[in-house]
Amino acid sequence: MKKIISIFLILFISNCIYAKNIHVRVWSQYNPRKVILNAFTGDYVLTLGDEKNIRANDGDVIVINAIGTRCSVSKNGDLLGTFSSVQVTTDDDHPYFKMQMLLPSSKTSYYPDNISFSSKDGELAIISSVELNHYVSGVIESEIGNVKNDQLLKVQAVISRTYALKHIDRHKAEGFELCDQVHCQVFHGKARFNSMILPAVDSTHYEVIQDENGDLIEAVFHANCGGQTVNSEDVWSKKRSYLRSVVDTFCITEKQANWRKEIDKEKWLNYISSKSGKATFDPCEFTLQNRITVLPCCSVFTEDVRNDFKLRSTFFNVIDGQDKIILQGRGFGHGVGMCQEGSIRMAQLGIYYKDIIKFYYTNIQIVNINP
Ligand SMILES: [Zn+2]
Ligand SMILES: [Zn+2]
Repeated sequence: MKKIISIFLILFISNCIYAKNIHVRVWSQYNPRKVILNAFTGDYVLTLGDEKNIRANDGDVIVINAIGTRCSVSKNGDLLGTFSSVQVTTDDDHPYFKMQMLLPSSKTSYYPDNISFSSKDGELAIISSVELNHYVSGVIESEIGNVKNDQLLKVQAVISRTYALKHIDRHKAEGFELCDQVHCQVFHGKARFNSMILPAVDSTHYEVIQDENGDLIEAVFHANCGGQTVNSEDVWSKKRSYLRSVVDTFCITEKQANWRKEIDKEKWLNYISSKSGKATFDPCEFTLQNRITVLPCCSVFTEDVRNDFKLRSTFFNVIDGQDKIILQGRGFGHGVGMCQEGSIRMAQLGIYYKDIIKFYYTNIQIVNINP
């Protein structure tokens, strides 16, 4: 009996994880005060504070205006009153809303599923309550909109879903779950232009990436690793069993694979000297096959060199030119986790999306949280 209850509980908890909508605060950077809402759906319900529910249809024009701590609401020009909050919900299969900002500026977005409004100090707090896969589709279109490769869209779907659920508590204290900015993941609303996105996301069901202990991973990525990714502890001091350095030949001829920077020799020597605490006249010339974390001649961290000289990566050769030092570099970004250009190349070669994910994240499992 105990066992049956445990299984039921596991199923119930798993169900809760995926069935629940994600609450994303949208447009906060615009300080919206007044918006127009049009529904592209059949019937829907406006829940106005605790006071009343009214029904509306596609074609109805709803205007919501922040006044102090309340929202004034009108429908087709008739004022319905002022309310502490407005919730827009529907039971339709694929509802979405067009939302236009009237104040302070003009902007239009389309949001799937449900949406709600409240007002604080004359400003609207707008929360898009969006089904997880609709959210993931919107993120993918916002971030890599026109990609037409099915395997790559699936890779992005699993990574974006994992990232969202891993960070679901990030804005808890502020009364929502995720923001629509790069801080969480960029979300501009419904995926509307690339018809391949939603089917690709749906076909990955509710798959997420877990580490060997069953915890969601930090699904970090970067533009190009230059041929070898980096251990997490070499960049962030946090060791993660799934963020291990791997050799990647898929990205080495891609756009961001190589870079070059010239530095005045005296400036370089002064830098090496002050960083290492040694008076040195050695420019620290070297050629790398594999990534290193410290310069071989003076124990200066490559991560420090990257930050101090604003380099594209920590993966570079040092060449002694006459009056300058030439850094010949590989890759772009921190180098931890998935290499985007490598993953794109793998997808173009037709490699299965789960194999792409497993190539970049070590000792992981891809688990469907929809039992
Ligand atoms: Zn955020
Ligand atoms: Zn790479």
